[in-house]
Amino acid sequence: ILNFKNYYKKMSSSVQSSQNQTNIPNQKVNTTSQINNNNEEENITCYVRCRPLNSREIELNANCIEISKDKKSITLKNNEHNYTYDKIFPAETDQKIIFEEIGLPLVKKFLSGYNSTIFAYGQTGTGKTHTIIGPLESLFDDKNENFGLIPNILNFLFEQKEEAKKIIKESSKEKVEKIDYNLSCSCIEIYNEQLIDLLNNNNQFDKADEILKIREDPKKGMYIENLTEQEINSAKKAKELLISGFKNRHVASTSMNRESSRSHLIYTLFLSTEFEIGDGVIVMRSSRMHLVDLAGSERQKYTNTQGQRIKEAGNINKSLSILGNVINAVIELNEGKTKFVPFRDSKLTYYLKDSIGGNSKTVIIGNISQSYIQISETQSTLNFIQRAKMIKNKAKIIENVNDIVKMLQNEIKNLKQINEDLNKKIDELIKENDEQKKTMENMNKKNKNIYSKKNKDLEDKIRQELVTEFKKKKPSNISERNSHYHSRDISQEGENQNYSNLVTKNDIKQLFEKINHVLSFEE
Ligand code: ADP
Repeated sequence: ILNFKNYYKKMSSSVQSSQNQTNIPNQKVNTTSQINNNNEEENITCYVRCRPLNSREIELNANCIEISKDKKSITLKNNEHNYTYDKIFPAETDQKIIFEEIGLPLVKKFLSGYNSTIFAYGQTGTGKTHTIIGPLESLFDDKNENFGLIPNILNFLFEQKEEAKKIIKESSKEKVEKIDYNLSCSCIEIYNEQLIDLLNNNNQFDKADEILKIREDPKKGMYIENLTEQEINSAKKAKELLISGFKNRHVASTSMNRESSRSHLIYTLFLSTEFEIGDGVIVMRSSRMHLVDLAGSERQKYTNTQGQRIKEAGNINKSLSILGNVINAVIELNEGKTKFVPFRDSKLTYYLKDSIGGNSKTVIIGNISQSYIQISETQSTLNFIQRAKMIKNKAKIIENVNDIVKMLQNEIKNLKQINEDLNKKIDELIKENDEQKKTMENMNKKNKNIYSKKNKDLEDKIRQELVTEFKKKKPSNISERNSHYHSRDISQEGENQNYSNLVTKNDIKQLFEKINHVLSFEE
């Protein structure tokens, strides 16, 4: 029992110490962040998409570009310069192909936990909105197959959920047991260096600068404080939000008296994924995908422009030229030629900082016109996109691993082991105790036999002594009185009985003393 007590004390103190280690009962959620990637640098992917010639341009027979057979390089008829990109999509390319070849691979990365960005760059009228959103009417009509990238991506995310889950599953190095994910979106417009929250129906344009603030978080990356982020659970709901965003854009443009081609539109999807890998470990990931329809890149004409318009034109030029400066600086940074990138110089570059040389898989689509009339703007777009191709991004998946379940399971395992050890010890002690009991019983039995034999010997001895005593004391009359007995064959016992009649008080006293002596011996 003493052993057991010591053992129990030891065990319970070990339980106590393991409780202290894991902070039970004041359990704190133990969440660790880890970067799950191979840390590879990757150049921004650059595509060019040509807009079909419109009827006027066809009339002028004005095609100015030539695309190579492998669809990787393009030549402008005026300078014979060869521009090379990841792929050039000719005018006949439909929206479905743009989604499958540009949108889908990036959505897969987004689902796998990477931040992703698609920029559409080019002069007004070259098909940026057509590429990113598509004709507005396609948002209302499911049968209209002219969807742009956003509706196509939404359809994929909500209508092919199993496929989306499979992509998430396959992105984990561990075996995924259960997946849960949810999506939300935001939509902003940057006009004249001002942020407009298009999903906020109560926009106060004059106070936007005080309300919406671009912030930087070491884990989350860039974000806008107070920006409306709406949860979406169907493609229909997401498209409705987009439509309401466009309504707000229209209200903003009328109240601010401006054209939408002068503003940048950034539609962002936020994905948070939670999946369980073995031993109850929960991995949480969040990623976001920006789809950016940039303002027209054409040089602003200042003729007949006054006041607000001059400022506006300057700002549009400013944000796009800062985008160019940022791209150049990032390239120089990669080459070790500079240490400073002027991200903060414009709201567009500051908010999209991660997309340019940072933690994002980025695609830039240069939208161009094939028309001779636009040749100088086309050339400028092709130069811009080729320069952007030199940017190297470092996309990484950031995971939060919540291993509390694993910790508790380990704790249960420890406690179970301790319990099992204790039970084993108890069994051993019970067995030991039974054996000791048995030995005791055997010893008792043995002792009893020894005692009873000794007793018998003593009794016989006493009896013998008494008989001798009495024989000595036997008076003659008694002997006569009992003489008739002599005629019989008197047993020793019978004789003793006869002598007992002669026992005096003193004899009895002596007898008791002897018996007591025997008893005390036996005890
Ligand atoms: P941007 O956003 O660059 O100003 P838009 O997307 O508004 O240009 O395109 C201008 C016009 O050209 C629109 O009427 C649009 O439908 C049409 N368009 C642009 N690209 C294509 C294309 N690839 N196929 C068919 N029509 C196009």
